[in-house]
Amino acid sequence: MGARRILREKQAGEDDAPRVLPHSPSGSGGPSRGALLGRMSRELAACTQLSDVFRCLGQWAMPALGDWCDLDVLRDGMLQRAAAFRAPHGAIHGPSGGPPSRLAQRVALMGRAELLRGPDEQVAVALSSEAGDLSRLQGIGLLDCLAVPLLLGGQLVGVLSFATREPALRLDEDTLSLAEDLSGCVAFALETDRLRQALERSHHAELRAETLERELQCQAADFKTLLDVIPVGIAITHDRDCRHIRQNPWFARMHEVPLDANISLSVPEGERQPIRYLDTHGHALRPEELPMQRAAATGEAVLDVELDLEAQGQRRGTIVVSAVPLLDEGHHSRGCIATILDVTARKRAMEAQRFLAESSAVLSSSLDPEQTSRTMARLCVPALASLAVFYGRRSDGTLGVLSVAHEDDSLQPIAAEVSRHFPIPEGHPLREAMMTGRPRLIPVLADEPSWFKSRDEGLHRLRQRLAVRSVMLIPLTTAHGVVGVLALGTHARTYSEDDFTFAKEYAAHATYAMENARLYREAREAVALRDEFLGIAGHELRTPLTALQLGLQRLARQSATAGDAAELSKWVATCQRQGSRLSRLVGDLLDVGRITSGRLPMVVEEMDLSALVEEVAARMGPELEKVGCGLVLKLESPLTGSWDRSRLDQVLTNLVSNAMKYGQGRPIEVSTEATAEGVRVCVRDEGIGISSGDLSRIFERFERAVPERHYGGLGLGLWISKQIVTWLGGHIRVESEQGRGSCFTVELPRRVEG
Ligand code: ADP
Repeated sequence: MGARRILREKQAGEDDAPRVLPHSPSGSGGPSRGALLGRMSRELAACTQLSDVFRCLGQWAMPALGDWCDLDVLRDGMLQRAAAFRAPHGAIHGPSGGPPSRLAQRVALMGRAELLRGPDEQVAVALSSEAGDLSRLQGIGLLDCLAVPLLLGGQLVGVLSFATREPALRLDEDTLSLAEDLSGCVAFALETDRLRQALERSHHAELRAETLERELQCQAADFKTLLDVIPVGIAITHDRDCRHIRQNPWFARMHEVPLDANISLSVPEGERQPIRYLDTHGHALRPEELPMQRAAATGEAVLDVELDLEAQGQRRGTIVVSAVPLLDEGHHSRGCIATILDVTARKRAMEAQRFLAESSAVLSSSLDPEQTSRTMARLCVPALASLAVFYGRRSDGTLGVLSVAHEDDSLQPIAAEVSRHFPIPEGHPLREAMMTGRPRLIPVLADEPSWFKSRDEGLHRLRQRLAVRSVMLIPLTTAHGVVGVLALGTHARTYSEDDFTFAKEYAAHATYAMENARLYREAREAVALRDEFLGIAGHELRTPLTALQLGLQRLARQSATAGDAAELSKWVATCQRQGSRLSRLVGDLLDVGRITSGRLPMVVEEMDLSALVEEVAARMGPELEKVGCGLVLKLESPLTGSWDRSRLDQVLTNLVSNAMKYGQGRPIEVSTEATAEGVRVCVRDEGIGISSGDLSRIFERFERAVPERHYGGLGLGLWISKQIVTWLGGHIRVESEQGRGSCFTVELPRRVEG
């Protein structure tokens, strides 16, 4: 085909801008084909993006190559529309440019350029796509079309198509050649764009990989921190047989193993860590029975298994284990992960509450203090202690063992023996607890050397058999002070602060029960005492009353017969004596009420004590004479001070009356003297005396140390005397020996303080 010139005719309304004449060899109407190509290839070579390529095509190839241009590119083996140019609308990028035309598909397939000259139906068909846009294209009036494959190194990278509707821009073989010439440049520009995009993608991928890596590192660090601080034991294994298990720090601490130790029990016995897991019956689980092993072997979760943990031969507490399998893509087990919760404290608190509730019920079921003290010690074992001893005041006031319990029945007698001989010297923690009422925790008994001071070898050996390791001393304190100390010892562990708190709580419950029992006993004793007292009082009041009545009858008879004056005065004296005895008895009864209600009136005045003694002696002279008691007075005179005269009179009268009553008719001596602190009065007799066991109680209310059949009395005189002397700031004491007489001593300050 020879060179042809394609001219465009000037249309009305068009501007005068020169049209591109691609075939003009001489430049008579525009740049030559070579110049055009040169220009375009330079521009295209500089294009790095598809949009630049197309802009370049639109600018330079139009209208020389038609007024319609499609650029289709091969992506992932598929030809796709990348951009389109439609005069007069301009460039349309991307898929909105429509799917590749049948012509482009064919050219891509054949790898050969094609030119179709119209106008005829074939052009519209060739430019239409499978998408069914033929009818639209038919109406456009397309004249010619051509398409060239875009090849790079023999490889198809796309298809460039042109079409025209302008009769002045008909396409021919020249334009086809021009398009073919251009195709290399466009293919190159497309490849540049593809490479740029690939580069960008790989750069993005790199950046993204870096970001992901950083995120992964952060997450790993977060996760590690979580594992380090979480107060839950976590263990993981990546083999079905659990031959190697790794753990977090909490787990390692709980099990007392190094963090890097393999804590699997599925390894040969010699390689195992000193750990055992016990079920609720105390049986050690075999490795294959353990939750992790079961979960890893079966691929099923094993949840909330409660076990007791033993590490280094010591019971460490109660744990709850949950193990879940780790599964591979085929849902087969490839290991497992387990969580271990320490529920020791929770369990202990629950058991403690239950124990307290149950023990309170048991303790309050008895109203006998001795029984309650035995129950209190017994209940402590084994829940709180292996050995429980309750020390308290015995009935004789000395400190000693009131009850003992040992968890091992066979050791119970040894425990009782040791406790009975347990020395409690001054400064001993037990004595201190008793004196101060302060509870004491001795976590390690070996640190308390005073506890072991014992000269008795045999006793020492017995104590070693009990092997008490840790001790708690809990005083039982009531409103009246410390009533005893509960000593709890264990050989199995070291008592903690929690144990200590719990023991104190238990002791509070026990104190309450013991106090109840004591009050109940006191109340019963008080009732018995009252009944006894009423019997004595009735008897006592009847004796002088009978004598008084008898005296009055005689008096009446004497006065009727106007008999012997001496006989009359004798009976008057008897009546007076019995009358005053009655009035003393009634006075004592009234004083009891006054003293207990704190309403004993006192009138303090300046007086001479020796003079008062002489007065009392003179008043009691006839009575003394009657029983044949001689009274010797050894008085330091005067002996003045500020006291209540009538109350001191009461005290002296009472002491002399007693000396007379219990003096077996032997002489009585009353002496007074001044002392550094005040004054002293002693009333001494040589009568029946008082046994040492009774000495401390005769100053108590209603207490008597003589059979009531032989000696009358209410058992109130000494108690009232003691209250009066105490009120005056002094004290009263007795020295006596049975059968050897008694000496009652009253010491008083010169005046009442405050
Ligand atoms: P009462 O004499 O009415 O029994 P007291 O309170 O005066 O009551 O005395 C209490 C007890 O002390 C007496 O019952 C007696 O056993 C003993 N007692 C008191 N004084 C003497 C004494 N001088 N000698 C021996 N026993 C005494």
